[in-house]
Amino acid sequence: MSNFPYSAKYKINSVLPEKGTPREVVINELLEMAKEEDAFWETGKCSGTMYCGDHDHYAYLQQAFGLFAHVNALQRDMCPSATKFEAEIIAMALSLFHGEEVAGTKPAGLVTSGGTGSIAHAMLSYRELAKNERGIEHPKVIKPETAHPAFDKACHLFGIELLRAPVDPVTTQVDLDWVIEHIDKNTVALVGSACNYGYGTIDPISELSDIALDRGIGLHVDGCLGGFILPFGEMLGYDIPPFDFRVEGVTTISADTHKYGYAFKGTSVLLFRDMKLRNSQYFYLTDWSGGKYCSPGMDGSRSAGLLAATWASMVHLGKEGYLKYAKMIFETAKEMIGAVRSHAELRIIGNPTFLFSFTSDEFDIYHINDFMKLKGWRFNGQQYPNALHMAVTRPQTQPGVAAEFASDLTEAIEYAKSKKDIVPMSSAVYGGVAGGMTSEADEFIKMFMAEMMDGFQAIPD
Ligand SMILES: *Cc1c(COP(=O)(O)O)cnc(C)c1O
Repeated sequence: MSNFPYSAKYKINSVLPEKGTPREVVINELLEMAKEEDAFWETGKCSGTMYCGDHDHYAYLQQAFGLFAHVNALQRDMCPSATKFEAEIIAMALSLFHGEEVAGTKPAGLVTSGGTGSIAHAMLSYRELAKNERGIEHPKVIKPETAHPAFDKACHLFGIELLRAPVDPVTTQVDLDWVIEHIDKNTVALVGSACNYGYGTIDPISELSDIALDRGIGLHVDGCLGGFILPFGEMLGYDIPPFDFRVEGVTTISADTHKYGYAFKGTSVLLFRDMKLRNSQYFYLTDWSGGKYCSPGMDGSRSAGLLAATWASMVHLGKEGYLKYAKMIFETAKEMIGAVRSHAELRIIGNPTFLFSFTSDEFDIYHINDFMKLKGWRFNGQQYPNALHMAVTRPQTQPGVAAEFASDLTEAIEYAKSKKDIVPMSSAVYGGVAGGMTSEADEFIKMFMAEMMDGFQAIPD
């Protein structure tokens, strides 16, 4: 598929148009694009990304967003509502993660722009507090290899050395001895995921917690993906070990409201066991000629609309709503995992939850991807080993989707067996982009980014 399917259909704006375009014309164009693109995932055949997929819920969120979209959440004297939204989002999330069990410190939170934002703020907080309290100038963090690249990005940006601990290839569980051996006087925090993006497996949080407590360092739990679904899975009786503030060594938790919180893209929460840790990353400039400046996190101006919509999602759904959807998702995941397990040629990796990953010891699993793609499925591709993952979301819970997955998969296996000796067409790139990742990976990535960002320049004449 071309990255520029619209280049022939609509006018290309390579300069600001001299005269404005009427609103209805613009809106019609947007409607056409949105409708076409929504049709792709509405089938339920697309892994992750459309966590909610409920157009009624979206319309409701749009109403909430629209009322405050133009408001700057930084200017609280003008919008005390934003203070209410933000404080309540944090309080509701804290209660979900058992903030009431915290003793001796005051729990706190931040609403950020997304999972990467929450992880980045956590890493910055650990760096700043360690510098202020322990004089650490060269901070280190240890993550299991399976933890999200946002940790690598944050550590890169903030000058933190990140160590990647190996994981067991069968269980995906982190090598705890390796973690223990690599902690030194500069280590400020460990990381665990509940669950990780690749395999949907949960790291041994209570073991990591024991290590962190023993060594007097932090433990960040990345619940970006699982944060708003695993607690409900636990309430439903699924086997989900505690990963939240009930585990004493857990010092921060990230959880994305823009994933299973069913809010709009652009919000996530970061929760702290100790308010002191959050406050360590505040930025203020009190002697600026433009006035006294302070902001709670890395962002400057933020839309109060996103806070309103996130708050509206949580308040409207309540525990009852989240439980209802979690039940449907866990049941669908179980059915799909069962379909994978019914084939001896396939192997589920580790002990997954609502997201599962599978590979094959008999053929390259990307043959399965090639076939399933033709049937409209979009999985996320993994490597080392090659694997495919499916994050089950609400669109998959529609009637018939899991059954179609099972029957398409059966056909895909015959296809894969017949192609055993040739190289599959698709390969693994985060974000579902198909392409050859070879030694020219650097050049390929640059070209791909250019196509995303500099589209009009790349459009052939
Ligand atoms: C999505 C995700 C992130 C990063 O979140 P963004 O919202 O994409 O910035 C981090 N960790 C996990 C486990 C995720 O699934």
